[in-house]
Amino acid sequence: MNCPFCRNDDSRVVDSRPVEDGTAIRRRRECPQCGQRFSTQELSLLNIIKRSGATEPFSREKVLVGVRKACQGRPVNEDDLVLLAQRVEETLRRTGQAEIEAQEVGMAILAPLRELDEVAYLRYASVYRNFASLEDFEGEIALLRALPSSNSPIASDSQRNTSNTEQSTNASQKINS
Ligand SMILES: [Zn+2]
Repeated sequence: MNCPFCRNDDSRVVDSRPVEDGTAIRRRRECPQCGQRFSTQELSLLNIIKRSGATEPFSREKVLVGVRKACQGRPVNEDDLVLLAQRVEETLRRTGQAEIEAQEVGMAILAPLRELDEVAYLRYASVYRNFASLEDFEGEIALLRALPSSNSPIASDSQRNTSNTEQSTNASQKINS
């Protein structure tokens, strides 16, 4: 990386430390030519594997688009949504994987969305998990009532809904593409 002061193409690392919960690393660098110091932050690349098999870089904006739709008319402001997208990215980065299935992005959205607004959560879950009938909603609402919101719906989801994986992938593809 070029020195931002003199454009020299070499620099020496004088300090490295993990930041953002260990998902990134910040380096203090010194330019051997002009002696100026500057910082860089290194973030591993996070790719999303789409259903087609193609990959694309993770985008907070795409998370926002999907969640914003589910939150229409709800008492949720843009700051809440930005924070949610940030939490989703942190959750995905903490898995330590460089490539993540689009479906897992949808999963990572469910838990924080439920904490934010249960109606928006139901809307999102109905698309993402392909709710087909009133019974699906009733079942989900019963679950929402039974489980305190600190319980991640992700765990219960994988237990209850294994037969629905193919459909879920379909739905999450729509949300993430
Ligand atoms: Zn320099």
